[in-house]
Amino acid sequence: MTTPEIWRIARENARLVGYRCTSCGWVAFPERKRVCKRCRAPADFEEIELKPYGRVLAYVVQHRLPKGFETPLPVAVVELADGLRVYGHLVECAPEDVRVGLEVEADLRVMYEEEGARVYSYKFRPREREREGS
Ligand SMILES: [Zn+2]
Repeated sequence: MTTPEIWRIARENARLVGYRCTSCGWVAFPERKRVCKRCRAPADFEEIELKPYGRVLAYVVQHRLPKGFETPLPVAVVELADGLRVYGHLVECAPEDVRVGLEVEADLRVMYEEEGARVYSYKFRPREREREGS
């Protein structure tokens, strides 16, 4: 690995960078791929900035997790762009308020600390207007 994982994650999630296949438009995230998963073309990806908004497609509420995680913890599959689905923790949201179709926004948060270093990743929280109930 040329770049330490912690820096790669922090850099890419600060802006939510994806990689769009120039042949078919499929978006790879969070890593650039060698071959497009949709059209199988050899890699020719352009870097794009993703909008940090999406919708919950599926979710589960975790009740038993390793030490260091607060439970119950909702985790969801979120569609950020057409066909681009990512998995992440939901925060600022009671487990009973999570539902399929919930609009969420990605936010860079501390995931855990390791040897004194903070490891960041994105988490999702309900968008403002969802929280206001309108
Ligand atoms: Zn493609």
